Order: sequence, then C-alpha cells, then structure tokens
Amino acid sequence: MGENRIQLNFYDCLHVYYKDSSCQKCVEICPIDNTVVYENDKIKVNPENCISCGACVGVCPTEAFSLRDFSVKELFYKMTQERDCLISCKKNVPCASVFDVQYLISLALKNEDDIVIDLGYCEECQIGHIKEKIKENINEANYFLETLNWPYRVKEENIKYKPQEETKTKERREFLKRFGKTTAGLAFWALMPKVDFETKEDEKEFKNIVQEKILPDKRKVLIEALKEKDIDYSNKEVLVEKISFTSDKWIDNYKCTNCSVCYNVCPTSALRAGEDRLKILFEPSICIKCKICHEVCPEDCLYLAEKLNLKTFLEEVKILAEHVMIACEECLVPFSYKGDTTICPRCRQLEDEIRDLLQLGE
Ligand code: SF4
Ligand code: SF4
Ligand code: SF4
Repeated sequence: MGENRIQLNFYDCLHVYYKDSSCQKCVEICPIDNTVVYENDKIKVNPENCISCGACVGVCPTEAFSLRDFSVKELFYKMTQERDCLISCKKNVPCASVFDVQYLISLALKNEDDIVIDLGYCEECQIGHIKEKIKENINEANYFLETLNWPYRVKEENIKYKPQEETKTKERREFLKRFGKTTAGLAFWALMPKVDFETKEDEKEFKNIVQEKILPDKRKVLIEALKEKDIDYSNKEVLVEKISFTSDKWIDNYKCTNCSVCYNVCPTSALRAGEDRLKILFEPSICIKCKICHEVCPEDCLYLAEKLNLKTFLEEVKILAEHVMIACEECLVPFSYKGDTTICPRCRQLEDEIRDLLQLGE
C-alpha cells in the first residue's frame, strides 16, 4: 500500500515481560484487518497492509511502537517552543491518535492554552474506531486537567485545516487526491520529504527483563510538565478507574507470600523490592497501569486502589507490604511469617493433600 514507517521493538512489548499479558491495545486499535496481530504469544506487524497512521504508537503503554522519521516527543517539544496548539492530520501528525492522553495533558499545561484537535477529516477517512479513541483521550485529558483546576482544555473541532499550497508538489497533490480522503497516515506521509531508510531490522539482544526496565517518554514529559507548574497537588485526587495511564494499589499483607513475581515482571520498576527484600515498594509516577502485576499474582492479593492522590503520584514511594521471613519448621525454607503458624504454605498444602489421600483410602 504505502511506504511503511512503522517499527516495533518487540522487546519493549508487555508480552515479553509476561507472556499472557491481557494487553492487545495495538491489535484492537489498528484500523486495517490483519495488520497488527497476536500470534504464538507475540505481537506481529504485517508491513504490507500498514498505512502508518501511528494509532498503535499512541496506544502502546510501553512505546514499543514508533514511526520512522516522526517522533511524537520531538513534535511535542516543537509545539511547546512555538506555542502551537493545533493537532491536525493535514498539518503535523499522521493521525491525532499518536498523541496519547499524557501528551495532551502536558501540552495544555506547557502551552497554557486550549489544545485543539482537528477532527474535520475523520468522517472521510477509513480510521474506523480510532476517532472514538481520540475522543476518549480528549475526555480523559480534560478530566485530569479539571482535577488540577487548570483553566485550559483539549477541544475537538472540525477545522479541516488546509496545508499551505506552496508546500505541495503536483505529485503530492495527486497522491492526496488518491489517498487523502480515504486513509489516515498516507495523506500525512505524502506531505513529508521522502527519506531512504534501511528495511532490515537491527538484531536485538535478548532482554533481561528483571534488570532492564522501561520508562516511556510520554511519562517523562508529563512529570516534567506537572512539576514545573506551581500547583498544590496535595488536595487533588483522581479516580483510578477514570485514568488509563497510572494507578494506585494496595496489597493484602496477610495473603502476600513475598514470592517476588509481581515486581519481577513490572516493566518499569514501579513495583519493586526494598533493599532488604522484606518490603514491596510502589512508585505511582512510573506505573503505566499495564496490570500485569495483578495478572501474575498467585495469591490474588494485589488490588487497584479507588483513588490516586496527585502529590503521591508525583513524589511518593509507598510501602505496600512488609514481611518477616522465618525458616519453616518442616522444610527449613524461609517463608513470610504472619504471626501464627511456623510451617510454610507449601508444607501445609502438602500435609492437607496427604490427609485427603489417607481419608480417601479409609
Ligand atoms: S500495545 Fe504495546 S505492550 Fe500492548 S500488546 Fe501491543 S506492543 Fe505489546
Ligand atoms: S506496578 Fe504498574 S507498571 Fe508495574 S506491573 Fe503493575 S501496573 Fe504495570
Ligand atoms: S503481591 Fe502477589 S505476586 Fe506480589 S509478592 Fe505478594 S503474593 Fe507474590
């Protein structure tokens, strides 16, 4: 179809951290069938079909997707330098969905003005449900900005921005005529200078997920934008269910066995062990709400909190669980002592199984 620009760094995908992660946001958002697919526990891209709209770039919590010759972060800083507040697929983005909620909030904070998203071309474009996602992003960004009592918002408008005539060559006009009214991405890329790039992907080393953690640019940008504002965050809180990009949590200390699975799979180290490995710590400012810590917990004792205080989000590292480890009386393997039995859960389970077997035999 078009010149494909999409790049997937497979080693940043959540499925590398936890094979059975429920995340399939890239698959769900892609407007073209059989283009981003989940097969054999892996996300795969079919470059033949891809229209380089960048919707997967915006939606991926770990920024595993990117576009060649287009950086959302660079565009963000250019827009803040120029106090540019208009996002349009005929001006500066392949599709407005490349800007996720965190970039939208940061732009409204940094530019100290309303941010306008031009949805004027969406009806003519084959982006399908992406428009709904853009609207969701707008609503979520505005919920967050309202919580801050920030006076500026993100707005959708049907502007139908027209690119400057002199920037278009005849060839590009022809291209737009063919694709501009039908497909996101292609129309934008037709306006960009043609760049040759290597098609062969670099060989990537296998990633040690316990040691190598990710912190997406969109989070760094948001933290920077929030910290440079003179806002008292201590009395501001958001409902965790209304926010897609971070969370607050708690652990039922009695049920938690300190098995370490949750923090070993955490892609950002938001969840981690304290120095003595007797505490489980949580830093909301780097949590991406991927939920894999909840999905892996064998005791089902890690929960999302109802609310997140924004001072906590920006500044705190919370202690979610504290353990006293003792050697099991039966097997001598250390386990988390809860002030009652001195036999570890594994030995207790074994004893239960043996008792059941004996009862069956009687
Ligand atoms: S959205 Fe990102 S993390 Fe989620 S499955 Fe796709 S590539 Fe992986
Ligand atoms: S703490 Fe946050 S980033 Fe880490 S695994 Fe849990 S939800 Fe994902
Ligand atoms: S919260 Fe769950 S996964 Fe994490 S250490 Fe406790 S029992 Fe293990």
